[in-house]
Amino acid sequence: MTPIPAATSVCARCSVHLGRSCCEANDGEPLATLTRADVERVQRATHRARDTFVEQEVFEEGQARAYEALRPGWRGYFRHVTVRLTLARAGGACVFFQRERGCTLSPDVRPTACLLYPFEPAEDGAWTLAVEREGSVALALASGQPRCLAVEEADGRGALLRMFGLTPESLRDLGRRLRAEVQAHGASDGGRGRRPA
Ligand code: SF4
Ligand code: SF4
Repeated sequence: MTPIPAATSVCARCSVHLGRSCCEANDGEPLATLTRADVERVQRATHRARDTFVEQEVFEEGQARAYEALRPGWRGYFRHVTVRLTLARAGGACVFFQRERGCTLSPDVRPTACLLYPFEPAEDGAWTLAVEREGSVALALASGQPRCLAVEEADGRGALLRMFGLTPESLRDLGRRLRAEVQAHGASDGGRGRRPA
């Protein structure tokens, strides 16, 4: 059975403290983008049929180009097929989410995009945040916007990394893993037939 991360982690408290976490999304709001490597890892661990946890979003060419332009780590994802794979939702949240516990997938199975959030690593080892910081949990809650409990609670960049069990080196490695998985994803046409170059 898939082990469940400790209920005391910051992510397990996020939804209760902020009203919703990055694992919850309203209609029209996306959850994390998946590569085929993510899908295969989750399938191997959970034995779930792919269509019970994967949704597909068909992009126009321009949308796909804009998506990659805004997210350097995802460049090449749409090389052959302009379809975004994302996590399926049930009741306004990812199918693997439980409100009092957070993610029910173990970290070694979790999609790479989920492991990286709220960090936005660059190739040179630097990183920024993928979410705005309000300065306190109360302000984050009052903003009504998607925010991150860890970002609000952390006392500095090192503390934020430690909350996720990361170091600058392991975060850089995760960024490299994402880029490798995105390149492999983009190199395959998923059996659909390649778009003209
Ligand atoms: S897989 Fe886990 S971390 Fe990712 S969105 Fe779903 S519940 Fe959240
Ligand atoms: S990464 Fe941030 S927003 Fe997502 S569940 Fe954890 S604390 Fe909440």
